[in-house]
Amino acid sequence: MLVATACLLNAQSSDFIVWKAADLRSFEKKLHSKVNQDHTALERLPDYEGHSVYVVHREGTGLAEVHETTAHMIYVISGEAVVVVGGTMKNPRQPVPETALGTSVEGGEAKGVGAGDLVHIPYKAPHWFKVAPGAQITYIMVNLESGKP
Ligand SMILES: [Zn+2]
Repeated sequence: MLVATACLLNAQSSDFIVWKAADLRSFEKKLHSKVNQDHTALERLPDYEGHSVYVVHREGTGLAEVHETTAHMIYVISGEAVVVVGGTMKNPRQPVPETALGTSVEGGEAKGVGAGDLVHIPYKAPHWFKVAPGAQITYIMVNLESGKP
């Protein structure tokens, strides 16, 4: 019993990680050189049961997305964007069963977000980050498997 308890404590402590604010701020510069033709770069942080975590950096307006079962919880580290949620995705294609991508969103609700803001994007909702020319946004994105396929 004592051995089992010790193993359990070890497993928990190895998953205990703190990303310091300065480390999170360094992603803006680190991901700048990796931006793709969709004006976006991302890095996947270690996965934990049921939730994957990414750092996303955008230097322009990218593709619109919709996910069948995944919701996003997003914390903005730096920069700003207008996030459009809802509406109708234009020119949709489905590269994987879970996700559809489009060129933009028509309609929907648009909200400005900036450093320190926390954003929830529900599953099945089209979402689109509009980034002004010369601006950028860098954020932590936690994917929550919350929907039923
Ligand atoms: Zn998404």
